[in-house]
Amino acid sequence: MFADNKQSIAEPKIIVALDFADEQSALVLLHQLDPAICRVKIGKELFVSCGPQLVEKIQTKGFEVFLDLKFHDIPNTVSRACQAAARLGVWMVNVHASGGLAMMTAARDALQNFTNPPLLIAVTVLTSLDNMALAQIGFKEQADSQVLHLAQLAYQAELDGVVCSAREAALIRNNTDKDFCLVTPGIRPVNVDTQDQSRVCTPRQALDNGADYLVIGRPITEANNPRHALQTIYNSL
Ligand code: C5P
Repeated sequence: MFADNKQSIAEPKIIVALDFADEQSALVLLHQLDPAICRVKIGKELFVSCGPQLVEKIQTKGFEVFLDLKFHDIPNTVSRACQAAARLGVWMVNVHASGGLAMMTAARDALQNFTNPPLLIAVTVLTSLDNMALAQIGFKEQADSQVLHLAQLAYQAELDGVVCSAREAALIRNNTDKDFCLVTPGIRPVNVDTQDQSRVCTPRQALDNGADYLVIGRPITEANNPRHALQTIYNSL
């Protein structure tokens, strides 16, 4: 486990997903956010559009960045991609647990020589997938057992934690340890549209279930007043 980034685990717990196609939109939203109460997540859309330069720019504005590129490839490729993320200085990076134990172990080992490496997190089962969708893919297990299985594999690989739905957070917590970091997307405040997410929880429920970080995108980014939406969610915690 990596010491320095782990120490900052307590706050802020909200990670705002900057799912935008261009720099201007991301910076307009960022201007309404406060790095004292949230971190930000840069995913595939923004990274492919704007690249590492924007990651650096956002970090210079005081925001810690979760680089959510969900690496899923052979061990050599994934471990080198994780090193590139570490050189960028991001706070958190992730891989797919279904890439396997050898891939996760290679990624973890590849970060060992960095003085302050990013937290290394494994995606278990996407929060957009329900049991029927999992069966279509060919998984035999229900979502919660599949998530637990992959979380235990990530734990065995000594990763810092996993991405899961907050619905599975308690199950994983009970089968790993208190320092295993649980990052939970699929967060929807009461009366907010679930959109393409399936396994959802409210922010408060997610924390009560043991989540460490709440990834929240559209309930904040598409709100009429994103600053107010963030503050309201923050207050509800
Ligand atoms: O807009 P919304 O709150 O649904 O955004 C959730 C974010 O979390 C998106 O950026 C999505 O890519 C990400 N994510 C997810 N499920 C996972 C991993 C990441 O929804 N298992």
